[in-house]
Amino acid sequence: MKEWYAAVLWMFCWSRFLETEGAKMRDLLGRTVDYMRISITDRCNLRCRYCMPDGIALRPMSEILTFSEMVRVVRQAAELGICKLKITGGEPLVRKGCAELIGKLKNISGIEQVTMTTNGILLKENLEGLLAAGLDAVNISLDTLSEEKFEWITGFRKLDTVLSAIDGALEAGLKVKINTVLQPGINEEEWEGLILLARDKRLDVRFIEMMPIGCGRKYPGLSNKELFEMIKERYGNVERDDRIHGNGPAVYVQIPGFAGSIGFISAIHGRFCGSCNRIRMTAAGDIKPCLCYQDSLSVRKAARDKNDSEVREIIRRAVLMKPEKHCFEENKNVTELRKMVEIGG
Ligand code: SAM
Ligand code: SF4
Repeated sequence: MKEWYAAVLWMFCWSRFLETEGAKMRDLLGRTVDYMRISITDRCNLRCRYCMPDGIALRPMSEILTFSEMVRVVRQAAELGICKLKITGGEPLVRKGCAELIGKLKNISGIEQVTMTTNGILLKENLEGLLAAGLDAVNISLDTLSEEKFEWITGFRKLDTVLSAIDGALEAGLKVKINTVLQPGINEEEWEGLILLARDKRLDVRFIEMMPIGCGRKYPGLSNKELFEMIKERYGNVERDDRIHGNGPAVYVQIPGFAGSIGFISAIHGRFCGSCNRIRMTAAGDIKPCLCYQDSLSVRKAARDKNDSEVREIIRRAVLMKPEKHCFEENKNVTELRKMVEIGG
């Protein structure tokens, strides 16, 4: 009994030390957690089949955090050492005031970088505001260069709008990454056309393996390993690019003559949990330690009660709950039941 008590006490003290050492949070495995992804809405203006097909139930707006509640949570997170934010959704730009929110987040002491993931549909008209707010970079999702496939995947004929948003963002001097999810039999052969964007434009193209989250469970994805072999067969000389491209688990390669790099986010066939640096906050204020599992702690009540110390405690506890690894490769063990559109990917 004595040994048991000593072990618990040791773990508690060690976790407190790890949490606060160097003003950065660490989890129980010693991983530094300084990056937070925030879904600011579960609404979207597209209907991607694997993410938000028609008919999906939305949360009532009363359950979605207001922007001032989000700012309050981020202020507390920044005090604990979170310094990089990704604004995502649903589609972040369908929520009015997104640029103003980004401006407020950028002004929080300790926040060094705010980036956004968008489908690009409303990007051009919001670009000026986003740049003025200090947005550091943008990820634009694009699975195909065919208008017919774009419509099949997203429900809308809006490919040209997205392509022109990419050019607009580049012309404005923003860092741009393209996010692509490939599906066998649907858009797998699109990789060739999409990587040429990185040959001709100053942007990175990243391939994200389909994850068994939400509607993604129904759609098999293409393995990045297979994709890499196809790229090597076609281009031969691809070199690993170890320059830092972002905050995430992507592995990059450089093809000679290409302006940008090609990234692989191998959620299923790669194991990147050892360097996981992130927590997520859903639009409804659930702090998620890992994308794969349902476990989360709600910060909504504490934020609504303006109880900052409770907000901090919830964030700290969520960090300590981070599991060693995800289990996307064993579909049956994935416990997350929320839709990607609510979590934000
Ligand atoms: N609406 C924005 C967009 O499309 O970029 C932001 C939110 S969206 C959920 C973020 C990213 O998640 C997109 O690149 C999308 O393709 C990806 N995504 C959605 N469901 C996915 C799944 N099941 N597996 C892998 N990626 C997924
Ligand atoms: Fe909307 Fe993005 Fe999901 Fe497509 S992937 S439905 S654009 S949130």
